[in-house]
Amino acid sequence: MTTETTTTAAETRTVGEAPLLSVQDLGMTFPGPRGVLSRRAGIKAVDGVTFDVRPGETLGLVGESGCGKSTTGRMLVRLLDPTAGRVSFRGADITRTGQRELRPLRSKFQMIFQDPFASLNPRQTVQQIIAAPLRAQGVAPDAVRREVRDLVGLVGLAPEHLERYPHQFSGGQAQRIGIARALATRPELVVADEPVSALDVSIQAQIVGLMERLQRELGVAYVFIAHDLAVVKHISHRVAVMYLGRIVEIGGKDEVYADPAHPYTKALLSAVPLPDPAAERARERIVLLGDPPSPANPPSGCTFHPRCPKAQPVCSTERPLLRLTAPSGTRQAACHFPEA
Ligand code: SF4
Repeated sequence: MTTETTTTAAETRTVGEAPLLSVQDLGMTFPGPRGVLSRRAGIKAVDGVTFDVRPGETLGLVGESGCGKSTTGRMLVRLLDPTAGRVSFRGADITRTGQRELRPLRSKFQMIFQDPFASLNPRQTVQQIIAAPLRAQGVAPDAVRREVRDLVGLVGLAPEHLERYPHQFSGGQAQRIGIARALATRPELVVADEPVSALDVSIQAQIVGLMERLQRELGVAYVFIAHDLAVVKHISHRVAVMYLGRIVEIGGKDEVYADPAHPYTKALLSAVPLPDPAAERARERIVLLGDPPSPANPPSGCTFHPRCPKAQPVCSTERPLLRLTAPSGTRQAACHFPEA
């Protein structure tokens, strides 16, 4: 995918800046089916997830389907209530804040969804869809109209689109409407859950390019969720890789892509096509055996061990903790035998 490459807001900020979002030991356990003793064993969809997002930066959250990344995203904006851990926004713990107290903060964090059509009300015009969050904030009608016109321009749509309905747009245009709605309240954080995976590849690049431009212009931070490491490469400053509800590697984009420490990250990256045909022919492709296990019945020790080409006996008995791969580095991996 080819997108614009320019300096982002996050690259001009200091690394030591206080986090915008802080997530600590976040967990989600769903009730499981009743067992023979009529006791429900919980299914851990997300387990002990910890990361920060700084103002104006993009954290790419990547993993196969069912790894818990979307559940994590929904907990960040309180569309789901976590069963464990803590989410702090600008230092304030919002994990168990009631919906009423949360309302003033809601404008500061928004979400973009995978299927733009499913997330837009088919009976509302674009004007009504984008205006809704502003109206909810009590913005005066004249100011709402002005703001909505500005927003459609910002996302590359035309004023004549305002009176049309979602079904009159292509997938890429519908996602632009979803982005305009998410940005209406000028949020500081947007959680984008697979925002381009339902779109054609050429349109994916346009939407990612649009999100990068909006980040530069508005300073908004993203948690960009995707199953494809190629998609998050261009937009992310840091990347977190999830497997079976846990983060197995997290670090700066360049470090993770150039030199993955966790065998799972390495396998995912080996499936990303390289632009240079010679390099593409020469590189080693790591094919993982089997499907990810069910979170209802996770493997012991390192949950990746049944599929890991580097597994040793200790891997099936001892769970590896997320730790720095080098004393001087910032990248962490959960592996007894990290590559780097
Ligand atoms: S701990 Fe063992 S099984 Fe798990 S990723 Fe590392 S080498 Fe593979």
